[in-house]
Amino acid sequence: MHWADELITKIPHRQARHRVDDMKTVSGMPHVGSLRAIVTHDILYRAMRKAGFKVDFTYVFNDMDPMDGLPVYLPEAKYRQHMGKPLYQIPAPEPGYASFGEYYALKYQAAFNKIGCHPKIIWSHELYAKGQMDELVRIALDNTDKIRRIYSQVAKQTKPDDWHPYQVICPQCGKVGTTIVTAWDGKYVTYECRANLVQWAQGCGHEARVEPVGENGKLMWKVDWPAHWKALQITVECAGKDHFSAGGSRDLGVHICQEVFGVKPPTGWLHEFFLVGGKKMSSSKGAGVGADEITSIIPPELIRFLIARTPIRKAVNFDPEGMSIPDLYDAYDQAAQAYWDKSDEKMARTFELSQVSGQPAKKHFLPRFRDVATVVQYPEIDNYVRFAQVKGAALTELEKNVLEDRVKYAQIWLDGYSPAEAVFKPADKLPQAAGQLTELQQDYLRQVRLLLTQEWKEPEELQQALYDAAKKLQMPTEQAFGAIYLTLIGKTHGPRAAWLLLEHLSKAKKLLKEASAGG
Ligand SMILES: [Zn+2]
Repeated sequence: MHWADELITKIPHRQARHRVDDMKTVSGMPHVGSLRAIVTHDILYRAMRKAGFKVDFTYVFNDMDPMDGLPVYLPEAKYRQHMGKPLYQIPAPEPGYASFGEYYALKYQAAFNKIGCHPKIIWSHELYAKGQMDELVRIALDNTDKIRRIYSQVAKQTKPDDWHPYQVICPQCGKVGTTIVTAWDGKYVTYECRANLVQWAQGCGHEARVEPVGENGKLMWKVDWPAHWKALQITVECAGKDHFSAGGSRDLGVHICQEVFGVKPPTGWLHEFFLVGGKKMSSSKGAGVGADEITSIIPPELIRFLIARTPIRKAVNFDPEGMSIPDLYDAYDQAAQAYWDKSDEKMARTFELSQVSGQPAKKHFLPRFRDVATVVQYPEIDNYVRFAQVKGAALTELEKNVLEDRVKYAQIWLDGYSPAEAVFKPADKLPQAAGQLTELQQDYLRQVRLLLTQEWKEPEELQQALYDAAKKLQMPTEQAFGAIYLTLIGKTHGPRAAWLLLEHLSKAKKLLKEASAGG
């Protein structure tokens, strides 16, 4: 049984309405690891629907939280002053967005929509603004002692006697990260905006009383989380393993949810990390790999496949370099066969859950990715014709679309991640292998250079001229053409020489000149 189908058998109350939810504080472009969370929730949501649960799927963008760190890609001069303000009150890096929080939320939403996740979006600041959190804020403040005790018992954290689970947004400087509530009288909180409350932001010194309602402030994040569970009637919510440690935020949330808000906490499991590594991906920006970066390297269904095929508690560690992308395609194609042939239930289900939308297509031909990556480098070969030969029949429209999609990702792989052996495109520098060219081969290359000074309308004509030139030098054609391949692509074979030369004419001329410069 697939892990998702197995996990949902543990969800109680089959008749009641269910809600699967995921949340994120949008303090910058989400890291690729966040995709593990959203795809895991989407998979559970789909599995629940299939199993007959009445369920919907929501996503909360936590935009009331303060900016407590500056992403390295943002100008410090512009953003330093906003540290400590709630994310929905900070200007976006580009015009056209309501706030910093909205800007990154929408970017992230675009990334996860692309991989087939379409939860209903909920903005945390709207919940507060509409008063939907008022009652929960009051309950939390009334139970401050109890929450303090839970912190101490569950998280082994001692909160000072004047600690409260609420922070006011300072009406004078606009910051929320710098304020502290010092008293609650059942109607008003007394608060101070302190200069040195936190290292990352400076408060203005303002002191006052305010009603803890609407957008006046927010619950502390660890209390805010279970308050959202209750406000939104969430029944399923997972989290990364960093939240799931004993005494961690999930543990605290569970206790606060039950003992303070009086409802059952959502069922949830920890999901392991999703790491994308390798030399190319260890970003020099120091910001890690963005969720939107991986979606430009491999197609959405393969991102889903990576997560769907891995048990929830096992890390996904993906390095796009070398042969890992072709290998991933092969595994995906095997899962497709398992689905179509009904041969392996778990693989078949993995394939089904990897689809971006709806049910998988009916059985059809899948061009093998590594073959596509080779064929696209042979300018003389027509992709449709070649793969119709492999299939043994003409390609259908769907199959042509699949092929085109693989051509696109093959180019990306060849340009950025493939090993040198897989690439048949001329390099910028003369390949090392060109050092083994014989005198005769260099003579031949000089003839080729002469030929390339002419205009060639048809590659066939040039191909014939290349043969003739070899014959004139009394060279075996293999040696002659081998000289061209060694010079252009550092290999002894490759696409048909005339096509290769004409496709990359200026580069070819330069490399041929370098390789035969001696004479
Ligand atoms: Zn202030």
